[in-house]
Amino acid sequence: MNKEQSKEALLEVRDLHTHFFTKAGVVKAVDGVDITIPAGKTVGLVGESGCGKSMTAMSIMGLIANPGKIVQGEILFHGKNLLELNRKEYRKLCGNRLSIIFQEPMTSLNPVETVGKQVSEAMFIHEHISKEQAKERVLKLFTEVGIPDPQRRYYNYPHQLSGGLRQRIMIAMAMACKPDLLIADEPTTALDVTIEAQIIHLMKKLQRENGTSILMITHNLGVVAEICDYVYVMYAGQVVECADVYELFKHPMHPYTKGLLQSLPKMQSGQGRLYNIKGMVPDLLKLPDGCRFAPRCDYACSKCHESIPALTDLGNGHLIRCCMNNHQVTEGGKL
Ligand code: SF4
Repeated sequence: MNKEQSKEALLEVRDLHTHFFTKAGVVKAVDGVDITIPAGKTVGLVGESGCGKSMTAMSIMGLIANPGKIVQGEILFHGKNLLELNRKEYRKLCGNRLSIIFQEPMTSLNPVETVGKQVSEAMFIHEHISKEQAKERVLKLFTEVGIPDPQRRYYNYPHQLSGGLRQRIMIAMAMACKPDLLIADEPTTALDVTIEAQIIHLMKKLQRENGTSILMITHNLGVVAEICDYVYVMYAGQVVECADVYELFKHPMHPYTKGLLQSLPKMQSGQGRLYNIKGMVPDLLKLPDGCRFAPRCDYACSKCHESIPALTDLGNGHLIRCCMNNHQVTEGGKL
């Protein structure tokens, strides 16, 4: 991200370290992460499961619980360090100016309250309006997010709704609060493709109407290409590449990013077997020396095992964490 973009930053995560102190040892789930989210833009955070994407989101939302702890770094929101807020101040901010949608909305919805009441309550907390006004607004919101028969659905409990409808309820709740930043943690992974497209459309609508910034956490590069302005690629707790979305898809530089892109199915005949990145994401308790991607990298050399490469700016806000930064990859991932 270049200097101009970071000047307009709504959220800046700086050198964030979130560690888990387990009996087996210290798990460095987030290990020196920097992310900038400009106002009104969508930033994608991608990588395989276990790379630290969700832990980064939970850290921003103040949801890290024992044995986890943010041990270092800053999270600047509108220039204020969230890590200096007390619990009450943090709670006030979350749900109002800062919202999160999870992959499975059942984890956020109260199973013993009707969904109408839950969205109304989200409004009550932040606005002084009557019960009748709140209900009227909730019904309008339900219509806007495409919930059929909103009068009836208002009195439904979460378990009476499909996964797609529950996710719409979460978006209605986010729209009710008009957050400055919406963190969407794999919001469409559990949904089928047509519902996925509708949910993404709704999130973009929320952004257009309220100027909301979005942090989209996903392993789906198709979603990233469709809606993101900037992309951060995470691997083993660290950012390994970031750039604006066109640059990243056109000129991916890190071998991991290249591997992820090569793994995408293509709409052409004769593609043969899909490329897959060899090996697995490392156990965060047993990280390799030097570059964390080295055991899976087709280009690893002795230098790669010496120390963790620094995140280096290639120009125009395109950063990579690799000691060799001009690989030419041909089909199949070989030099
Ligand atoms: Fe591969 Fe070495 Fe770059 Fe790591 S530093 S990604 S091992 S080439």
